[in-house]
Amino acid sequence: MKTISIIIPIYNEEKNIKNLFDSLTNLFIGMEVEYVFEFVFINDGSEDNSLEILESLDKSIGKIRIINFSRNFGQQNALKAGYDHCTGDAIICMDADLQNPPDMILQMISLWELGYDIVLCKRKDGNQNSGYLKGLFSRLFYKFLNILSEIRIEHNVPDFRLVDRKVLSELITLKEKDLFYRGIISWVGFKKVVIEYKHIPRDHGKTSYNLLKMMQLAASGITGFSLKPLYLSMLIGLLIILISFIYIFYALIIHYLGRTISGWTSIIVAIMFFGGIQLFFLGVIGVYVGKIFTQVKDRPNYIIKDHIY
Ligand code: UDP
Ligand code: MG
Repeated sequence: MKTISIIIPIYNEEKNIKNLFDSLTNLFIGMEVEYVFEFVFINDGSEDNSLEILESLDKSIGKIRIINFSRNFGQQNALKAGYDHCTGDAIICMDADLQNPPDMILQMISLWELGYDIVLCKRKDGNQNSGYLKGLFSRLFYKFLNILSEIRIEHNVPDFRLVDRKVLSELITLKEKDLFYRGIISWVGFKKVVIEYKHIPRDHGKTSYNLLKMMQLAASGITGFSLKPLYLSMLIGLLIILISFIYIFYALIIHYLGRTISGWTSIIVAIMFFGGIQLFFLGVIGVYVGKIFTQVKDRPNYIIKDHIY
């Protein structure tokens, strides 16, 4: 029999776990004759009762594994832990907050049976409950990302996907510390299909991604898949040097004509402009240096306190 692994990262989801698990197990009734289901929950340092609730889940429908982190390591690292420890032939990851409709899983499995290696789910109507600013920011981010990087990453395709075992074997050999699976999935290749679903507002609790966290993920996503920002900074630098040569030329002529003006405005404008550009690109370089720093330290992506089977 084939095994299907369901990977679910959990961070303070005490109100959602039971509902999610019930709808998943209801969905799988009757399918046990064909498949073995393995649930891999990663408790990513929840501060509420999530762990107790996970431990109390009914174990008659499928295997349940709980990977309990020593602290919060973030969703991407929780996904990695799930990928590292699951045993399925097809591996599905999804959010715990019921925003990813469980019944999509049936469609994902049938497409996998048809021979697709990766099944991605795309939100049909965008991220409605996320507010205007977050929505705008996310659209801009994907625009930039696709201009800047060598791979194509679709907008509104969250970490809700199925991958075949052969894709997973590639994923788990990657040694990247700074993970952005949406990009990595696009980078690995293989035979893909995208299906659409309607996004459901969060059931309980609130999103743990605020604007700052999103910006971090965005910076990490862009710099993780492209060196173009560095080349862009060189190009802009060159352009400014060119412009300043023209300006210097102009200033010298004015000087020799004896019409030296007070020039305060132009100095202030130039200082502000160049200062801004320099700071911005120092930041860009900083992000890359930071990435090298994390990579070189070679610390593990997560620490497991205990495995509960
Ligand atoms: N999550 C996690 N660690 C974190 C933040 C989130 O494991 O540090 C989990 C969370 O429990 C949920 C999924 O990742 O299952 C997506 O999180 P969330 O709903 O907050 O993100 P959004 O849907 O707003 O992108
Ligand atoms: Mg969510």
